[in-house]
Amino acid sequence: MKKIYCFTLLFLLSINFSLQAQKELDDEVGETIGIWTINNGGLITNNKYNNKEGKKYWDYLMSVLPHELINKYVVRFRLYTDGIQDDLGGFNSLSESNKEWTIEFDIADMDLKNENPDYIEDYQHTLIHEFGHLISLNASQMQPTEDEYQDDSKGYLTSEGYAIKGSYMDKYIKAFWGDDILFEWDKIAAIKNENKRVRKLQNFYYEYDNEFVSDYACESPEEDFAESWTFFVLCDISEPKNIKEDKVIFFHQFPELVEYRKKIRSKLKMIPNNYLERYMAKE
Ligand SMILES: [Zn+2]
Repeated sequence: MKKIYCFTLLFLLSINFSLQAQKELDDEVGETIGIWTINNGGLITNNKYNNKEGKKYWDYLMSVLPHELINKYVVRFRLYTDGIQDDLGGFNSLSESNKEWTIEFDIADMDLKNENPDYIEDYQHTLIHEFGHLISLNASQMQPTEDEYQDDSKGYLTSEGYAIKGSYMDKYIKAFWGDDILFEWDKIAAIKNENKRVRKLQNFYYEYDNEFVSDYACESPEEDFAESWTFFVLCDISEPKNIKEDKVIFFHQFPELVEYRKKIRSKLKMIPNNYLERYMAKE
């Protein structure tokens, strides 16, 4: 089964974040290759790490992804490795306000010299998927809250806060996560025993495989959003045949996301064929 492992989200109050930006945070995954401060989309070199390596990856990332949200929110860039697979990378909110974000990538999973099409397909997928989290969970989309449990009158509660009415996530939840499926998923997500949770989640995927673009999309509504967004960028679907294809074309209603899609597609090394059909059969 194919898996993309996103980081669990970090919730750090980052007062004077710029002072901390080059430091390692607690619970970082893998071995650090380098950490850089990002200011208005530019990488600030430092004396501690290999700036050439950092710039190489940062330039690649900025060549593929639209700049607007990155310039506005991203303050930190980290390269690391935990070997091939496991954690591939992540875009994560660093503050409760969701105004400061970090981008992290595992260089073993993003060797820019590797020309194997499957390998390129995988890291392009990761990059687009992670950008989907920045699109959907940034400060303009989420209302921070102290609530630990969802108050239904306030909408859908993510780790970053409530999906603001009219936000991408709010519309996505209203379109695709009715009370029944959300309740069923919630019960599984609450299972403490990890093996049991994973098994139940797999069964959930098999039960609803017409509704989810990948098994990882069942991980949470937020991951579902990021996965559907990824297939929106990578696939051409005009007449949806099932709910998962409805999820892919959901993004066409937002002109700015259609623009992002166009920009990203023009910069990708390759656009896979029949990606959605092939994806779950691939591994
Ligand atoms: Zn993710």
